[in-house]
Amino acid sequence: MKIKSATFIKSAVDPRSYPRNPVPEIAFVGRSNVGKSTLMNRLMNRQGLAKVSATPGKTQTINFFLINESFRFVDLPGYGFANVPVKIKARWKEMIESYLSGRETLSGVLLLVDIRRKPLKEDLQMKQWLESYGIPCLIIATKSDKLKTGEKFRSLSDLKNAYSPAEIFLFSGLTGEGKDEIWSQIGRLLGAG
Ligand code: GDP
Repeated sequence: MKIKSATFIKSAVDPRSYPRNPVPEIAFVGRSNVGKSTLMNRLMNRQGLAKVSATPGKTQTINFFLINESFRFVDLPGYGFANVPVKIKARWKEMIESYLSGRETLSGVLLLVDIRRKPLKEDLQMKQWLESYGIPCLIIATKSDKLKTGEKFRSLSDLKNAYSPAEIFLFSGLTGEGKDEIWSQIGRLLGAG
């Protein structure tokens, strides 16, 4: 995908303040620190457009980006922070779920998981939840540069078993591995929507 333009549109918490014009959207979701901002920035070719934050949980809004004037990326709040009050966690969950369940322009979701970790309960729940809403979902195994080749493919195979039948793609923000394949998958989701 050739990126002619990528701009931040707005942040929103409430569905009433989501962008109104009906262009297709691709949403990104995953645990905090999984590499979501890194992936989004790499895909958009814009360093720092989606923030890479060392302090988890700083911004918990839904962030909308317009790409090539024709579709949007949607950055959903990361989940799974430790030391966050239950009430606030519940609010994020509601924010994520009300976007995912009610957004007519949503073409698909990229669910990010860290390649080094065993499938986590929250991620598996998210995947099942997306399936139950019939929302197309791709799993992205992030930080693929952190494992040696043998370990990487072993882990990928475990993830495939856990998330089947969803498709899994590798990504590294360090080497750029997977970027072209992920763009072509996004193109497919946008085309299907
Ligand atoms: P987010 O909280 O999901 O948006 O995660 P970030 O994109 O902010 O990344 C969290 C941390 O992991 C940062 O220190 C990143 O530099 C690091 N990181 C993200 N992606 C990669 C990757 O592909 N490879 C490596 N080695 N580090 C990464």
